[in-house]
Amino acid sequence: MSDQEKAAKRAQWEEINRAKAAAKQREQGTPDNLEPRASVTQKQFQAIRGSRDLLPPDTALWNHVEQTAREVFGTFGFGEVRTPVIESTELFARSIGGETDVVSKEMYTFPDELDFFRQNLRTISEAMQDEGRLNRYLNLVVVFSERLKDALNANRLPQTETNLDVSQQLADLSSEALGRWNNGKTKPDPEWQNLLGRAETLVWDFDLGDKESLRPEGTAGTCRAYIEHNMQQLPQPVKLYYMGPMFRRERPQKGRYRQFYQIGAEVLGGADAPAIDAELIEMLMTFFGKCGLQGTELSINSIGHSRDNCRRGYVALLRTELEKVKDKLGADSQRRIETNPLRVLDSKLEHEQSVIEKLPRIGDHLCDDCKTHHAAVKHELELRGVVYRENWRLVRGLDYYMRTTFEITAPGLGSQNAVCGGGRYDGLVELLGGPPTKGIGFAIGEDRLILSLEESGKGAAPQGRDVYIAWMGERAYATAIRAAKDLRNADFSVELPPTELKFGKALERASKLGSRFALILGDNEVADGQWTLKTLRDGSQQKLTEQALLEYLRKL
Ligand code: ATP
Ligand code: MG
Repeated sequence: MSDQEKAAKRAQWEEINRAKAAAKQREQGTPDNLEPRASVTQKQFQAIRGSRDLLPPDTALWNHVEQTAREVFGTFGFGEVRTPVIESTELFARSIGGETDVVSKEMYTFPDELDFFRQNLRTISEAMQDEGRLNRYLNLVVVFSERLKDALNANRLPQTETNLDVSQQLADLSSEALGRWNNGKTKPDPEWQNLLGRAETLVWDFDLGDKESLRPEGTAGTCRAYIEHNMQQLPQPVKLYYMGPMFRRERPQKGRYRQFYQIGAEVLGGADAPAIDAELIEMLMTFFGKCGLQGTELSINSIGHSRDNCRRGYVALLRTELEKVKDKLGADSQRRIETNPLRVLDSKLEHEQSVIEKLPRIGDHLCDDCKTHHAAVKHELELRGVVYRENWRLVRGLDYYMRTTFEITAPGLGSQNAVCGGGRYDGLVELLGGPPTKGIGFAIGEDRLILSLEESGKGAAPQGRDVYIAWMGERAYATAIRAAKDLRNADFSVELPPTELKFGKALERASKLGSRFALILGDNEVADGQWTLKTLRDGSQQKLTEQALLEYLRKL
């Protein structure tokens, strides 16, 4: 079945379902908003592959981690930036690199209906086979022309002179074609070939505007915002952090999701002083420390800059050396010799390790400036007491990195053990159309950070209520509502059962919820103003006035 036929079938199917739902509704007289759409089989919905729900009590740990990031980053002078989850596809292609896996295979890009149509109009030779196919093709042209007009009128497409002109020409062409068909010219002939050929050429003159994608990372959007809001006019450098969901269509496994979360920071503009690199890494390690993450390892490297006397020269040398040992490498690495030889160094394949260890190392081929910069970064890290390991094989998957690159691993994560990646990207803002700007940043994989914390026993303890109010009787209920309000205003978490429960039942619920105290309010308590507070851990009880109760709880 072609995609188009599938779409038609789907539309038909939806139509049937709508009709069924409407019939059922008429039968039962239920209003539209209360009745779920009828479906043929009752479908059990699940979060889609590679995405998941984060639930309490786990979300408490997520909030704690995020709050810690805000506090630590704040002490280093960073402010939060919130960029959209959706950006122009071109932004990512240009910054991350069109050839990288992230952009070429993993990005969620929205299908464009008009583009889909346009691709389908490439089948003229097929349309010239017989009357039926010619008819289908003609329909496509007519529908495409109408959709184009609608989209232009609704301002969903760029209203350029060319677009308006092409739209008009296409409308003329499709009415000419319809006229011809209605005059009985329904057999493929050279004139049809000519007419359809003109239509096919026309549609490619049309500018359908930018495609849009879900962001696979946060640096591109942050740099776009820096340029768009002229942040180069602010005191430099501008220090920004962000947190939120990212999207990559990868194979889901432990520590690897299709919707995952990153916490990242960028230092944009000003100098590329080695102290900036070191302070950023210091901030990162401080953050991990405050989160209680143990067993982290920081690896650093310099991948130089792109000139001939630096990385480019090294990559050429690496390629030559790799060619010599090609038959000892696996298929992936063999392919990368051509496309991206640096990535061969990344290989985790057992049998490639001894071969890779003998390859020339980038550290020996950096230009003097990059060498000096790298040495100074290491010195600056030492000044700050940041422990690091040098790893000459550390290269990063995104094209924009240069000079300092770093990665942090944490235990308990299996083979997805990188919790953070980062590096310098001095050319990026300029590449995106901004002024020449220095830049360095990192992105923490929040999912993996949380996983590692949980594995080491630092997961969130289930959060119980402070006080459960066990009330009986109408007068007690009014008092209970007021007590709940006062306690909550004093920042205690309170559970007030919405319906009356026998005291026994209420106390049972209180323990199930993990409450520390039960406040017992019955007729007696209300009458003499002496409330009963039960400590659930040991079952002890005491009588307190409202004021004394608040003071007692505050002192704990
Ligand atoms: P990996 O080596 O695991 O593929 P990466 O090099 O693709 O990571 P970056 O693009 O540098 O990762 O992103 C920074 C961090 O974001 C990673 O170190 C990791 O912790 C996290 N991360 C990346 N992709 C995913 C994913 N699909 N699911 C969960 N976390 C991810
Ligand atoms: Mg990856």
